[in-house]
Formats: sequence, C-alpha cells, structure tokens
Amino acid sequence: MAETSREIRLASRPDGGPRPEDFELAEVPVPEPGEGEILVRNEYLSVDPYMRGRMRDVKSYVPSFEVGKVMDGGAVGQVVASNGGGFEEGSWVQGLQGWREHYVSNGDGLFPVDPDVAPVSTALGVLGMPGLTAWVGVTDIGQAKEGETMFVSGAAGAVGSTAGQIARLKGLRVVGSAGTPEKVEWLTGELGFDAAFNYRDGDLPSQLREHCPKGIDVYFDNVGGDHLSAALARMRVHGRIALCGAVSQYNQEAPPPGPDNFVSVLVNRLNIRGYIILDHYDRIGAFLAEVGPWVTSGELKYRETIVEGIENMPEAFIGLLRGDNVGKMLIRV
Ligand code: NDP
Repeated sequence: MAETSREIRLASRPDGGPRPEDFELAEVPVPEPGEGEILVRNEYLSVDPYMRGRMRDVKSYVPSFEVGKVMDGGAVGQVVASNGGGFEEGSWVQGLQGWREHYVSNGDGLFPVDPDVAPVSTALGVLGMPGLTAWVGVTDIGQAKEGETMFVSGAAGAVGSTAGQIARLKGLRVVGSAGTPEKVEWLTGELGFDAAFNYRDGDLPSQLREHCPKGIDVYFDNVGGDHLSAALARMRVHGRIALCGAVSQYNQEAPPPGPDNFVSVLVNRLNIRGYIILDHYDRIGAFLAEVGPWVTSGELKYRETIVEGIENMPEAFIGLLRGDNVGKMLIRV
C-alpha cells in the first residue's frame, strides 16, 4: 500500500474566479486506523459549485474552507483496512472527506455503496446529492404536473440534466438552456428534451419566447441572474420557481442587480421557493424508489465528465464553474 497520501488544501481565497495558485497539493503519511476505525482509499472525488461559496470567509449553510487546511466534499472510496467501524475491508462507502486520497473514520456519517446496483460513481451524481436535488426540485418544490411546461437552466449539468429528464418522465414539456451547441444537441438528441437552446447564442428573452410560446409553469433555476429575469417574464399564472442555484453569480465579487421584473411574482401569483438539499434527506428513500429503476432501465440517462488524478482536481473545479463538464464532474483518484 502507498505510504503517503495526497490532499488538496486551500492556499488562498480567490478574488473572482478561482486560480490554480489558490490550491496547494500536499503529501502526508497515510493515516493508521485505530481500534474501531477503518482506512478508506477514495476512488471518486466530487467537485460541486457550492464549494466556490465555501472558499469565501462568510457565514453560510456550510462552514467556509480554512486557508492552509485540507478541503472537503463528497467522495466514494473503498475500505482498505478495517478494525471495526461497521464496514468490512473491500466494501465501498460514501462520505464527505473528499479532496484527499485516504482517510480514517469510525464510520460516523458514512453510507454504504453497493457496486452491484450501479457504478459506484453514481452515488455522487445521478443517484446521489445532485440527483436528489433534481428530484426534490421538480416534485416537492416545483410541484410539477403532467401537461405543464418546465424550463430548466444549467440543463446539461448534473442537477439540470436529471431534473429535465425527471420532468419529461412525469409528462411535462421540457425546455433547457446550456452553454455549448454539443450540450444542446445532447439534451434534445439523447435526453429527450422537447427543446433546448444555447444561451450564448443571443438574447435570452427572445430565445425563451421562441421555445416556450405558451409560457412556463415551472422554472428550475440553476443559474440566477439574467436567466431568472428572462424566466420571470414568461411565467404563467400560478407558476412555480424552484430556486436551486445561481451559478452565474458564484465568481462575482460585487452583488449582481436583482431582477427588474420581480413584480411578475405578484401579477402572476407565483410561488418562488429556494431550497437547500441538506433539509430534504428524509426524501432519499422516495427518490431512490422512483429514480433508481429509471436509471437501471436506461429511461433516465446520465453522463459523467471524469478527470484523472487528484493533482488535476483544482483545474477540474475551475473548469466546472466555466462549463467544461457535461453531466456530473468527477475526479478519479
Ligand atoms: P453543473 O454540473 O450544472 O455545473 C455547473 C454548470 O454551470 C457548468 O457546467 C456551466 O454549464 C454552468 N454555468 C457556469 N457559469 C454559467 C453562467 N454564467 N450562466 C449559465 N450557466 C453557467 O453543477 P451542478 O449540477 O452540481 O449544480 C447546478 C446548480 O445547482 C448550481 O447552481 C448549484 O449550486 C446548485 N445546487 C444546489 C443545491 C441545493 O441544495 N440547492 C444542491 C446541488 C447543486 P454551461 O456550459 O451550460 O454554461
């Protein structure tokens, strides 16, 4: 077994978009598991947009990363030594000790991952936190109903691609926006979106008018900013907006202007609700019961963009925020 383990530390807090020098790759001895503990070797590490917020020194729903300290986040790994802790050697676990190759745990906060059900990487994507976020956003927050129209922004990402397909499988007309022609082609060609467009191609309000001629019943917002304003202008009476993310703003240092058409919420009697998935883990059983079979049968498709090597993790994270990924962005250690 390796004697050293690599980890990524926060070197400095970025000003605007993160740069490679904001991260530091360090080498530490592989930790020894004590009595009642396991040693885990991570196989897949997750990079997620919310981590950009954690690089700031501000109070939020998750603690900030500390400068000079190893970062953390979702990871799937294999138990390589076990002195108890509820997991046997060779078993797969999901936890929150990402951004590193190895870690020791007493098993608290770890979940088993069954490699016979689906590839273990899906525990970080379509069958994990992003998938649950998509399902809760469409069903509980968006209250999506058959025959309605849903618009989803960030549609070719981990959450967006799953949300759009869930809505399609529930009988909605689904329209998505994404940032490249290849992503748009994937949405309509493979994932069965009824329409999709490249938001970089032109004026968002006109693109939405063209693709949602009868208006929008549910807007699944991953992007915020100009996408939110454009969607507000097309919402139907009694429409719902699931405020899931605002990725267009995460690298901005100055607060962006608010939508100038917020009165649409009043005029159209909209229900607009933000949510944080940490509050909805009681829904994981219902989510897996509905979405698991769709994934196994191939009715709901997923893609992963996999970057090799922990040393490339900072670049993968920087790339995620500028749209280098199709589907879920992962690092294979
Ligand atoms: P994605 O896989 O969607 O990756 C981020 C994507 O954002 C990129 O691929 C890029 O795609 C898009 N993007 C970047 N900048 C812009 C911009 N200026 N305008 C429009 N799109 C942009 O990430 P996730 O699926 O993990 O997350 C999607 C959203 O969901 C994020 O906002 C995230 O914070 C949020 N989220 C919220 C949770 C919650 O609890 N509320 C939980 C998990 C995620 P493109 O090429 O199309 O521009």
